[in-house]
Amino acid sequence: MRIAVVGAGWAGLTAAIELTIAGHPVELFEAGRVAGGRARSVTLDGRRLDNGQHILLGAYRDTLAMMRHVGADPDTLLDRRPLAVIDPAGFRMQLPTLPAPFNVAWGLLTASPICLGEKLATARWMQTVKWQRFQVDPDCTVAQWLDAAGQTGPLRQQLWEPLCLAAMNTPAERASAQVFANVLRDSLGSHHRDATDLLLPRVPLGELFPEPALRWLQARGCQIRFRHRVRHLSTDETGVAIDGERFDSAVLALSPRHLAQCLPEVDVPTTFEPIATVYLQYPEKTRLPFPLIKLSKNVGQWVVDRGQGMLGCALSGHGDWEALDDAALVHALHAELGLTEPLLWHGVIREQRATHACLPGSSSRLPRSPSPRLALAGDCCYPEYPATLEAAVRSGKIAAARLMASAPHSAPTPA
Ligand SMILES: Cc1cc2nc3c(=O)[nH]c(=O)nc-3n(C[C@H](O)[C@H](O)[C@H](O)COP(=O)(O)OP(=O)(O)OC[C@H]3O[C@@H](n4cnc5c(N)ncnc54)[C@H](O)[C@@H]3O)c2cc1C
Repeated sequence: MRIAVVGAGWAGLTAAIELTIAGHPVELFEAGRVAGGRARSVTLDGRRLDNGQHILLGAYRDTLAMMRHVGADPDTLLDRRPLAVIDPAGFRMQLPTLPAPFNVAWGLLTASPICLGEKLATARWMQTVKWQRFQVDPDCTVAQWLDAAGQTGPLRQQLWEPLCLAAMNTPAERASAQVFANVLRDSLGSHHRDATDLLLPRVPLGELFPEPALRWLQARGCQIRFRHRVRHLSTDETGVAIDGERFDSAVLALSPRHLAQCLPEVDVPTTFEPIATVYLQYPEKTRLPFPLIKLSKNVGQWVVDRGQGMLGCALSGHGDWEALDDAALVHALHAELGLTEPLLWHGVIREQRATHACLPGSSSRLPRSPSPRLALAGDCCYPEYPATLEAAVRSGKIAAARLMASAPHSAPTPA
């Protein structure tokens, strides 16, 4: 009995772990030399960094559980702190450690500089959204949703639109209101205070999950085939053929672009948003006032203090920044940060197709597998959430469960 998992991103690793837990022998195919996909460690000029600055939320329930399962302790590897949106140009909203929903209410009431009338209007709107169980017109964009709710004041520019871009990598004018409402439901709208927490990686992304996951899988006999890009895949009633090799079933855990290459008949998202990560190295003692800062000019959107003078700036979604070459981007960010310390080193990583755009109605165009022997995973296969680590992990869990429920397998041997 053989099961193949194609793609060793966070979705594929999760699927492989779930299948292994259920006692199925798994072979994992990965085109690259390392695991992690779009959330992996890279080396730039001898520095171990991430291919993109990642931020997690306390609401990433399944991601945190998978990390624990493979022995990667989130409490040690992630810097957890209450949500704060701090813009050095003036805006500040910081949640206290009160139980939910008082933490959000207090954070909103103390947000500055926002007038009381706007805070009360926003609190009323959030309550209405809760009463409506976070159900929104599926064809509506975030901008239309905010317009209809009268959310047109400074909180929109300072809070909702930046949160939308950060969470969905799609600007409010194009982003799905329903998916944004899902994100709010599971974070600011959650009964659990810690769901709103920001989790900033203390270690390179590889150490957060991909590398412990690989060690866990290898210790249980999973074969991992790096540098094997799957090119031919076909299914029939008895199984799946992958580059001519027979498997009883398979999970395909790929980005939309790679999924379309392997299975041209499957409907996948075709609109993408870019992300650039700009690393700026200052002298070791350089610190930001808070580990995550929102930048207010149109160039940088968020900057993360990674410790020892290294700052990681994330620029999400299509925007004016795309027209700047790397040197101009670095210069603009350095100027915007306004630090007096000298810039010692910089590195820029641009991902043109970082994530699929999270557009209204996209959940109805979910990629569907042509065979019960083949399950699809990957961040585009979990329509409740935007393209995130949590979407990838949840899709991996669902794909493994679907495969086990639908394809007949011989009795598994316990892992
Ligand atoms: C720059 C950047 C910043 C981001 N920031 C955040 C963030 O702050 N928070 C957050 O939650 N999410 C963030 N994301 C999104 C998150 O990284 C992705 O949603 C997630 O990593 C997707 O995982 P996946 O397993 O679905 O797909 P992928 O990571 O794309 O994994 C697919 C794997 O399949 C492999 N592969 C492709 N084709 C083949 C083939 N034919 N044969 C074999 N292997 C193949 C690839 O090499 C890859 O390893 C960010 C993404 C980027 C790019």
